[in-house]
Amino acid sequence: MLEFIAVLKSMGLIKAISAVIAALLSLNLTLNGVIYADGNDNDPGDYKNVIIMIGDGMGFNHIDWMEQEYGIDEAYMFSMTDYHGQSKTSSSNNIVTDSAAGATALSSGVRTNNGAIAVFPQDQYGVAYVPLTLTELARSYGKMTGVVTTDSNHGATPGGFSAHVFDRDEDVEITRQQIEESGLDLIWSAASGLVDDAYANEYGWTLLDSMADFEAVQPGTRSFGQFAGNLWNPETGADSPDLSTMTVKAIDMLDDDADGFFLMVEGAHIDKHSHSNDEANMKIAAKEFDETVKAVIEYAKAEGDTLVVITADHETGAIKVKDGKFEFTSGSHSNANVPLLVYGSDNFIKEGEAIKNKEISRRLAMAIGADSSEFPKAVKVEN
Ligand SMILES: [Zn+2]
Repeated sequence: MLEFIAVLKSMGLIKAISAVIAALLSLNLTLNGVIYADGNDNDPGDYKNVIIMIGDGMGFNHIDWMEQEYGIDEAYMFSMTDYHGQSKTSSSNNIVTDSAAGATALSSGVRTNNGAIAVFPQDQYGVAYVPLTLTELARSYGKMTGVVTTDSNHGATPGGFSAHVFDRDEDVEITRQQIEESGLDLIWSAASGLVDDAYANEYGWTLLDSMADFEAVQPGTRSFGQFAGNLWNPETGADSPDLSTMTVKAIDMLDDDADGFFLMVEGAHIDKHSHSNDEANMKIAAKEFDETVKAVIEYAKAEGDTLVVITADHETGAIKVKDGKFEFTSGSHSNANVPLLVYGSDNFIKEGEAIKNKEISRRLAMAIGADSSEFPKAVKVEN
């Protein structure tokens, strides 16, 4: 009898253990051992169009400096959003991230090592698995996809949304993957000299390398933009579009699809001019990024069903305030948290909430329509 009770008790224990296991299995286990339940507080819901805008190197003090320069009404980005959060920018192997690992966190929901683009830190060469990017996820949902940047096409940030490489300096391989494998509908950037008409055409792209090409291209054309000149500066020159002009047209190129689109827009030169502590040009680049944000928000307001997330991959220049004046105190990246601004969702970020950079892309994936079994996700490399 005692034995029987012991068996019953042990069965009860087994039942209890089974219930716990069942409960765990009913949740979705994602990468890095993080358990997320579906429908959590930060689920922004599904959006037809999802746009991430990355001011490369843009910290809170860049924004405050711009507000001091232009006033809060004119500095559109910096006064328009209701929801202000923060992103914690570290990479997997350094508290100070570079742009490659920063882009990976924002594109793939994974923190990787500095220098790596959309590959896992455990498999830096991307031999076995690579993390799915938001661009690839959006394509799987039938959305059109685009990347627009003031950097060259193989820069770390555009690379993070269009290629998987273990070393950000693999310019040719990043470009090859963009042209031959990415499946994007649009990649517009400063010219790298790595793509000509014949190569673009072979893989179904139309190469745009002049203002005439840019103005002539129509929706329905897959286009690879390679523009000379300073795309970060609205005085870029007659033969090149600037960032805001490119972005407005990119949206027009992508928004005819009933399934919507996913677009990454990068203002790369906030970072570059912060590295060189070039205040005047940093401000021109930041103002142009702000103009681009304004245009995107106006589109989202008019269109509806569009989520816009504005953030940075890291802060550059360690800007500090001394005696009421802003100044660069370094020529490198810092580990300061960076702004996270949202238009279109009350749920994406709580006021003042600080989240890891990789969590931003997870929430964007949910906005695209994924659940936590779909993102972040390891994809087997086929070769
Ligand atoms: Zn960067």
